[in-house]
Parts: sequence; C-alpha cells; structure tokens
Amino acid sequence: MSRIAYVNGQYVRHAEAAVHVEDRGYQFADGVYEVCEVWQGNIVDVPRHLDRLDRSLRELRIDWPMARAAVEFVLHQVVRRNRVRNGLVYIQVTRGVAKRDHFFPPEDVAPSIVVTSRSSNPEAAKALAEQGIAVVSFPENRWPRVDIKTVALLPNVLAKQNAKENGGKEAWYVDSDGFVTEGGSTNAWIVTRDGTVVTRPADSGILRGITRAAVLELIQSEGLTFEERPFSLSEAFEAKEAFVTAATSVVMPVTKVDGKIIGNGHPGTVATRLRELFHTATDLQAV
Ligand code: PLP
Repeated sequence: MSRIAYVNGQYVRHAEAAVHVEDRGYQFADGVYEVCEVWQGNIVDVPRHLDRLDRSLRELRIDWPMARAAVEFVLHQVVRRNRVRNGLVYIQVTRGVAKRDHFFPPEDVAPSIVVTSRSSNPEAAKALAEQGIAVVSFPENRWPRVDIKTVALLPNVLAKQNAKENGGKEAWYVDSDGFVTEGGSTNAWIVTRDGTVVTRPADSGILRGITRAAVLELIQSEGLTFEERPFSLSEAFEAKEAFVTAATSVVMPVTKVDGKIIGNGHPGTVATRLRELFHTATDLQAV
C-alpha cells in the first residue's frame, strides 16, 4: 500500500506530495506545526493540539487554512488511509505561496496545509523506555518565542545532532543561568532525591507541551509531590530520576546526562509509572 499525504485539499501519493518552491514555509520557515500521537488506533489529545495550533497561528497572524472541524476530519482521514495504528500524524500550516518577499503576502494568498502520518514500532519504543536514554546538554541559542510551535527548528536540529554525535538521543538546552529549559523536541523533568517531580514553568522559555499537560494531571491524580520551577543541570546530575515528555515518545526515562549516570542508572519508578498510566490522562479519538 502506498502512503498518502494531504496537501492543500488533495490526498496524494506520499512519494509525489509536494508544495511550491515559493511556499513561505520553505523560504522563511514561516509556518507552524503539530504532531499528535496515534496510539492503538486512536489519535491522542486532538482538542489540545488544535487549541495550541490555533494559538500558534494567532501569534503569527496566519489564518486557519480551513475550518477547524475540517482539519480534524483530514487528520482522521490521513491516519485511516495510511492504516496507522501506532505512530504519529503531522500537520503543518504555512503562510502560503507568494513571490519571495519578507513582508506578509497579499490577503488573498491562502495558507498551505500538509498532513502526513506514519507508523512506529511500539515494541521498539517499549524496549527503549525499559533501557532509558542519554541526553547531552547544549547552550540555549533559540529565539525567545519558543512557546510558538514554528517549523523554524534549525537550532533544535543542530542541538539534537550534537547529542547524537555524543552518544545521546536527546539534547537538553541550558540557559545562561545554568538552568535546563527543555529538550530539542521534548520537555525536561527530574525527580529529586526526596521524590519531588520538577519541571520548568511553561510561561516562558519552553514549548507548553501537550504531553506535559497530561503528565501534570496524572501527577496530581496520583498525589505525587510536584514543583513547577526551573532546575539546573547540576541539580539534574544529583536527581533520583529524569525523564522527557513529547507526543512521539510519551514519557521517556533519562538515565544519563552528559555522560553522568542519573539515580541508579535505570529508568525510575516515577517515570515508569507515569508512562504506564499516560493514556488514562488523555483524550482518545478512535480513527
Ligand atoms: N519542546 C519542544 C521544543 C518540542 O519540539 C516538543 C515536541 O515536539 C515538545 C517540547 C513536547 O511537546 P508535546 O508534548 O506537545 O509533543
């Protein structure tokens, strides 16, 4: 079965799916995106993702490419047409196609929309979570508006590539005060030696993760001690546990930071439990 993508109103073969060379996403990174997890035949937390998409679009003054309900319909169609049971669905909206010029294009230029979906292997994710991942720190070098989920991900690409070349699966940005902001494509968490779960507040410096929000709810319903505050890299080295969260990896234990073993070097009990319970705190839309 060939893969299918949705591009500006049409379902096309993925291999042939294309946008114009003067799409502003391509030329200026003038666009936003969302990634939803597909889990056991359900799309996870669609309302939350579309709320955040709405916010990103508003912050950049890009119109919705079509009604929100229509976007939701297309998400389902693309997942269904690709027969994805476990994996992700990706949506990207840009300011559209126009003659290259930094100024916004004329009002009649329609935003572009692309939706793709692909499968992932839940067994491989499980095996990784049982082992835990290594992260490698990187100086924070992004613009201050990381709260907007834009496709301008070059700093993230470079930070993650640096992590990979140094034996890690994720990068942790560290700001000029020594505090961890977030991962290259995840939010960052620690569990202190006294069992307090800590993550940075989402009012600045990080993306307000949808997975983060669900995990915060779980932490409350599980009665765990929790503090929303910045934590430093040196505090992370001393932590009992560390983990990262994102739609594509859910809750992923971190067992090494900059080559230093975290806790006992194995995935922690808190991270493991939050991972197990995760989907009980999410909205599931059957495809
Ligand atoms: N932070 C960054 C920079 C990200 O790119 C992502 C996800 O792509 C996240 C955090 C986690 O967000 P979410 O849980 O909504 O996937």
